[in-house]
Amino acid sequence: MVIEPLLPTASRTRATRRVAIGDVIVGGDTIPVIAGPCAVEAGYGAHAEAVKQAGASALRGCVLKPRTHADSFQGIGAAGLPLIDRAREATGLPVLSEPLEPGDIAMLDGHADALLIGARSMHNTPLLRAAGRSRLPVVLKRGMSATYDEWLAAAGYITAEGNADVILCERGIRTFETATRNTLDVSAVAVLRDRTDLPIAVDPSHAAGKATWVPALASAAVAAGADALLIECHPDPQRSVCDAAQAVTPQVLARIVRATASIAPLIRSVQLDSMASCRSAIDAVDDVLIQLLEQRAAVVEVVQRGKTAAGLPRRDRRREREIVARLHALAPRLGEQRVRRLVEVIINECVDAAREAADGPDVEKVVA
Ligand code: PEP
Ligand code: MN
Repeated sequence: MVIEPLLPTASRTRATRRVAIGDVIVGGDTIPVIAGPCAVEAGYGAHAEAVKQAGASALRGCVLKPRTHADSFQGIGAAGLPLIDRAREATGLPVLSEPLEPGDIAMLDGHADALLIGARSMHNTPLLRAAGRSRLPVVLKRGMSATYDEWLAAAGYITAEGNADVILCERGIRTFETATRNTLDVSAVAVLRDRTDLPIAVDPSHAAGKATWVPALASAAVAAGADALLIECHPDPQRSVCDAAQAVTPQVLARIVRATASIAPLIRSVQLDSMASCRSAIDAVDDVLIQLLEQRAAVVEVVQRGKTAAGLPRRDRRREREIVARLHALAPRLGEQRVRRLVEVIINECVDAAREAADGPDVEKVVA
């Protein structure tokens, strides 16, 4: 049985092929957030720990940086490998790292769990072929001006060598707009869903170019059906050696991770084909339900304060009947009686919570 999602999505709501990065599945039931600083730098161990605490599922661990300017920081190179090893060991999270040329792949193998092919390298066919010959999964970013066909053709160089574990990553394209670093092409998620069975990730950081815009773009990507997010995060963004302006703090990353988990049940059809898939579907829905109830309680608290100030009764039975009448139409499976009972409980608990917030706990309840 399949349960259709609340929000309209692309024809398929997730990839057909599931790609494992370590034990993190991309294209499956959850939407992993891969995060970390743009480049591995001194303090990487603490950066990785902060990213893990924020709820990320995998780490960016780039020791080689493809830079536009030759005199920009180029990455710390092989000296960064022990930092990756320690972070991987300490956090238990898999690591993505970027090779710039075929010979770099052997250097990264054994330290990284997946290869990241950056936008500047999407047309580097010898590198794509070498990634295809490696046993590592490959996250293939879209070139700055690449069409979907060119991007898929680049993926074809990897798969042609026998490596089917490719994740496509939209990271913004070059357009006439200059306010953002690039223009996030959210359409890529919907269109590629129809054209490929590969998972589709989105990197809102390199699209936005500015940290304050990253959460909104991340939400848009997940709502469009992205299978994973790739986000630059640094505990002290201004001191990031690379791409400082777009690095979010771990606090913001934690909000993005929570929002991603909350949006997922609204956009993903749920395939109820095993007890485990049923349970994870229930958990995902419960997480959203309870957060929405928490929000409802906060609103009711304000309403109750207003009513108290105006000398109005706490409850308005006519309005409660209207709520039931409106809601039961949205839940035919539950039916009117159950919706009535559920709404009654929700209203009671929210009003109770507001009363406790105003007066302290109900004495009778404390004694009971
Ligand atoms: C990066 O991920 O740090 C990077 C260089 O991104 P892109 O290749 O998308 O520019
Ligand atoms: Mn970067």
